[in-house]
Amino acid sequence: MQYVSTRGNMPAQNFSQILLGGLASDGGLIVPESYPKFSKEKLKELSKLNYCDLSFEIISPFADDLEPNDLRKIINDSYSPQIFCNSRTAERCGEITPVVKIDNTLYLQELSNGPTLAFKDLAMQFLGNAFEYVLQAKNEKINILGATSGDTGSAAEYAMKGKNSLNVFMLSPAGKMSPFQRAQMYSLQDKNIHNIAVRAMFDGCQDLVKAVNKDKDFKQKYKIGAVNSINWGRIVAQIVYYFKGYFAVAENIDEEVDFCVPSGNFGNICAGHIAKQMGLPINRLIVATNENDVLDEFFRTGKYAPRTDEDTIQTSSPSMDISKASNLERFVFDLLDRKSEKLKILWETVENGGDFSIDAKTLKIMQEKYGFISSKSTHPERITAIRDMYFRHGIFIDTHTADGFVVAQKLRNSATKTIVLETALAAKFEENVRDATGKKPPIPKHLQEIETLPAKVREIDANLQTLKNYIEKNAI
Ligand SMILES: *Cc1c(COP(=O)(O)O)cnc(C)c1O
Repeated sequence: MQYVSTRGNMPAQNFSQILLGGLASDGGLIVPESYPKFSKEKLKELSKLNYCDLSFEIISPFADDLEPNDLRKIINDSYSPQIFCNSRTAERCGEITPVVKIDNTLYLQELSNGPTLAFKDLAMQFLGNAFEYVLQAKNEKINILGATSGDTGSAAEYAMKGKNSLNVFMLSPAGKMSPFQRAQMYSLQDKNIHNIAVRAMFDGCQDLVKAVNKDKDFKQKYKIGAVNSINWGRIVAQIVYYFKGYFAVAENIDEEVDFCVPSGNFGNICAGHIAKQMGLPINRLIVATNENDVLDEFFRTGKYAPRTDEDTIQTSSPSMDISKASNLERFVFDLLDRKSEKLKILWETVENGGDFSIDAKTLKIMQEKYGFISSKSTHPERITAIRDMYFRHGIFIDTHTADGFVVAQKLRNSATKTIVLETALAAKFEENVRDATGKKPPIPKHLQEIETLPAKVREIDANLQTLKNYIEKNAI
């Protein structure tokens, strides 16, 4: 499989060549030249496979430059019942992403049984092992530099810890994360993991990362890399659980199923779009946003108007508090029949602080052919959903997954099965869950003592030179 840029100006490259990169060299996003398509016969075969075998079948065509046995090992190392397990689902760990029935046509797919209790682990575990493999094959090493307000940074650290070719420098705002989030990251003692608490807000951390990346000489000398949400390796790994979820609920391969996805940067549901293009019988892809509704506006009206950071509201589902959706460009590329010239004009407008609207005909294609619909939730609606799920069904959900249920209730068609994707475990957002139910959600056993473990973290001022000095001393 060859990969190209949505903006049309990058020489085609294979999977190993694009895996470690972020943006394409022309500023676009990296996409496969085409999507493999599975026949109904093939889908029937796939429906019988376990998570690892299914991953292999789905990822292979996208990574056909890797030795099949090596890819198999990367996958088996990533998705084991030991890694994707917690006390809630002990007896179903082998399924990796078990599906729970809520009512006749409503389902919850558990994606949060990994080490950091969020769906990001599913992509990050694969990415960690794939990075290590590609780096070893090239005999290279990299230093990953990132900023986090919680979820992404910890998922990256748990996936990269102990790897020989990788060093992680993760900036976080000092004193601004929850004690649980802090403990999750800072308790890692691995020598390739460097937690750096910056005396600043999250934006200040991100500014430092940008400033380091601007210094081209420094960046090259210390081989600075990233694991951001636009990385193709993350998207490809996420396609798998749409297949797994579909097979868990569909009676036969002719049945169509809806997915409802709590969305922020559009990474998760972008994988659903690709699964549908590969032939998986998905009817509708339901985009669920919180009060930060840039995506909801786009899928309802066709207008894409990124907000400014100041306009981004802090909500009870913080991992979805985004001002623009970085992965949307991948979908709009397909929507425009892969015409780079057209796409480039739209995104140049966006990069200059503007917005764009697609025409009525394209809007119709987006909703009918591609199956996208959307809605949003408010904080009180999410709290009600958490309460309902607990008191009616005995299931704890977190505020992000609650967003999915609120939107599913608004838009579901009761003749079609709807799978809501769980994006984090309730224990991760305990305070809101306690407000809603009056009960403390269970914390997986291996994490119960985490806040008492010794912390490995360096605290620094928001100063570029201090950060650079630290990287110089600790880089591999
Ligand atoms: C990252 C995240 C999301 C948003 O996912 P996108 O891929 O950015 O759309 C939703 N919920 C949780 C808990 C997350 O960590």
